[in-house]
Amino acid sequence: MGYNTTMRESSRVVVIGAGPAGLTLANLLRLAGVGCVVLERQSRSYVEQRQRAGVLDYASRRIFEEWGLAETLLAGAPEDHAIEIRVDGDPHVLDLRALSGGRTGRAIPQQMLITRLMTAFLENGGDLRFDAGDVALHDIDAPGLGPGSGSGPRVTYRDAEGAVREIACDYVAGCDGHHGVTRTAVPPRAATTYTYDHGIGWFTVLADAPPPRLPLFAISSHGFAAQFQRGPAACRLYLECAPDDAPDDWNDERIWKQARLRLGDETLPAGPIVDKGVVEMRSFVIDPMRYGRLFLVGDAAHIITPMGGKGMNLAIGDADVLARALRAAVRDGDEEPLAAYSATCLRRVWNQQEFSRWLTELVHESGDASLAGTFRRQLARARLDRLFASAPAGHAFADLLAGG
Ligand SMILES: Cc1cc2nc3c(=O)[nH]c(=O)nc-3n(C[C@H](O)[C@H](O)[C@H](O)COP(=O)(O)OP(=O)(O)OC[C@H]3O[C@@H](n4cnc5c(N)ncnc54)[C@H](O)[C@@H]3O)c2cc1C
Repeated sequence: MGYNTTMRESSRVVVIGAGPAGLTLANLLRLAGVGCVVLERQSRSYVEQRQRAGVLDYASRRIFEEWGLAETLLAGAPEDHAIEIRVDGDPHVLDLRALSGGRTGRAIPQQMLITRLMTAFLENGGDLRFDAGDVALHDIDAPGLGPGSGSGPRVTYRDAEGAVREIACDYVAGCDGHHGVTRTAVPPRAATTYTYDHGIGWFTVLADAPPPRLPLFAISSHGFAAQFQRGPAACRLYLECAPDDAPDDWNDERIWKQARLRLGDETLPAGPIVDKGVVEMRSFVIDPMRYGRLFLVGDAAHIITPMGGKGMNLAIGDADVLARALRAAVRDGDEEPLAAYSATCLRRVWNQQEFSRWLTELVHESGDASLAGTFRRQLARARLDRLFASAPAGHAFADLLAGG
């Protein structure tokens, strides 16, 4: 294989990637008494500073509560209790706490959750290796002689000092995101992939500017915009744009002008922009999320648009299902839950893909009529009216936001 292997070790599970999926799984496996090694390509400081999602939904909150981690991970994180949908400048507040019967999430920036997950794992003796290069999987489809036999898969990588290492294991968890290496180990004939381009672009900025009081969606003929809190003095803005827009097409003046116009707030305070980029509004799902002894978790198996805020939450949900299944396999010799892993996760994944697509259509088509025409604009407005006026429609919306 071209490697001059210098160090050989073994572990029950090798987890590849230290994002929400990998770090949640590593913590849950530790609590379940299943040994694992986590390999992360980036440095610790890089991982701790990567800013993305901001809301942990109710289903994820419950997972951390059930495993006894909520107090450590969610201390000080405010309840995600309501959302404002502003239509042509008119505010409509949906009381998520009431509509969901108290099944609310927590507002927590992804990098804060990541830092806490990492600290919890390392402080309890977890084995997490940063700067792991050239990660490669071997023999993931080996039948093996069962857990602990040593005849299962192997993972090789180059450590921070340049030495090549090999870890023999029983299971590999591919938690390395959409652009990682683990999914490429699945032969095309062994899985079906689904992709969908939503046909719009989202330009996004992180700004040191006052956040809105509530998570805010704004619908107007100028295009869709959203603004969310990312800490006490920072916000994330999303502005609908052409799919082929480049970040440099948006200077500060254009960003704040469009934000004020779309949010219907001439006095919206500006602030320094610390990051900007164009979000790919694309969905992807692989089925099954397993090949041999490799289990794909989170973005490695599926991506979803940020609409609805489900990417990080699906990653945490997969990690929970896999941790329970690995516990059953290792502790009780019961591989049935592992056999059901993919189908269990995919049911929730497709439910959330549908929610995200429904919401995407709703907030975009009800605004700029050039997107889908005036007829569909009227349909989307009717759906919005129903959401504001009908309790069952509000309950269904809050239920999907709660996740699960
Ligand atoms: C701008 C933006 C906004 C978002 N907003 C939201 C939101 O509001 N709500 C929400 O729920 N989700 C949101 N998401 C999506 C969410 O961030 C992802 O779904 C989530 O991070 C997925 O977690 P993951 O652990 O599966 O993958 P990742 O977070 O991508 O983690 C994968 C890890 O694997 C590592 N890795 C990659 N390749 C290798 C390799 N070869 N070897 C070793 N390690 C490797 C990476 O460095 C990384 O640390 C957003 C994403 C973006 C980009």
